[in-house]
Amino acid sequence: MAARLIDGKKLAAVLLNGVAARTAALSYKPGLAVVLVGDDPASAVYVRNKDRAANAAGIGARTIRLPATTAEADLLGVIAGLNADPAVDGILVQLPLPAHIDARAVIEAIDPAKDVDGFHPSNVGRLHEGAAVLIPCTPLGVMKLLAEAGIPLRGARAVVLGRSAIVGKPVAALLTAADATVTVAHSRTIDLAGECRRADIVVAAVGRAELVRGDWLAPGATVIDVGINRLPDGRLVGDVAFAEAAAVAGAITPVPGGVGPMTIACLVENTLSAAIARRGR
Ligand code: NAP
Repeated sequence: MAARLIDGKKLAAVLLNGVAARTAALSYKPGLAVVLVGDDPASAVYVRNKDRAANAAGIGARTIRLPATTAEADLLGVIAGLNADPAVDGILVQLPLPAHIDARAVIEAIDPAKDVDGFHPSNVGRLHEGAAVLIPCTPLGVMKLLAEAGIPLRGARAVVLGRSAIVGKPVAALLTAADATVTVAHSRTIDLAGECRRADIVVAAVGRAELVRGDWLAPGATVIDVGINRLPDGRLVGDVAFAEAAAVAGAITPVPGGVGPMTIACLVENTLSAAIARRGR
């Protein structure tokens, strides 16, 4: 392996320690409410990990579990209660929601000042204006990994694979704001490999196991692998064929242990930021 490993687990631990030190110095305990509707097993694991990391960092996190049959109006009522609760600084509704609930209506119901996922349209708009307050956690984690690895962004050619609202688009906006020249590729892109080969930085967020091959990369490129894919044999892999890519890249994130832990650390950090913005120190 020629590439330097960008260790998300280690950086996430550093960030969480920093949050713990800062919350300990506050005159109050920041609060995070995570709302989980239904019993999707993957969501339950994510929510448990978020809860644990937040509490370990001195944030009062609680999970509100609602049955899969919850009516949209009842969920909106829960959100309204959390918006009005002065002890709650951050609200996160775990996605996906059951099909009968309009996720957009739910996200729009969250007070933007408590929207620690950064998905509310007013936070999305601010992000694209370059005036973000609460930045979506996974894209924020990607930017922190690039910064920690010392990757120059100004003038760099970056390719973002994927254009989802929660990963691809915000990553592209953040890289643009950091003065990279950004190409967004997606399922209709003609020559994905060619786009990647021209890039100094490749951020893969497509949800296709090991799609990006070693020969898609320019020697020395930086690779940030956001993908989390479960193979039939149970192994967890990213969107990048790690061993092949690591032989060519200059720096690369592993899966697991790359972007995943950073997403949770950034959520915890966003909760602290939201608390300080509302309540001061
Ligand atoms: P998504 O909403 O399904 O979006 C996937 C994007 O990839 C779409 O823009 C799609 O293009 C594009 N795409 C799909 N197949 C492609 C292909 N063969 N070639 C080129 N582009 C292709 O997924 P997401 O929510 O952004 O998540 C992406 C991955 O990141 C998933 O593996 C997810 O599990 C992972 N993830 C990880 C974290 C973390 O904390 N590490 C957080 C969030 C997501 P179209 O727009 O044309 O359909």
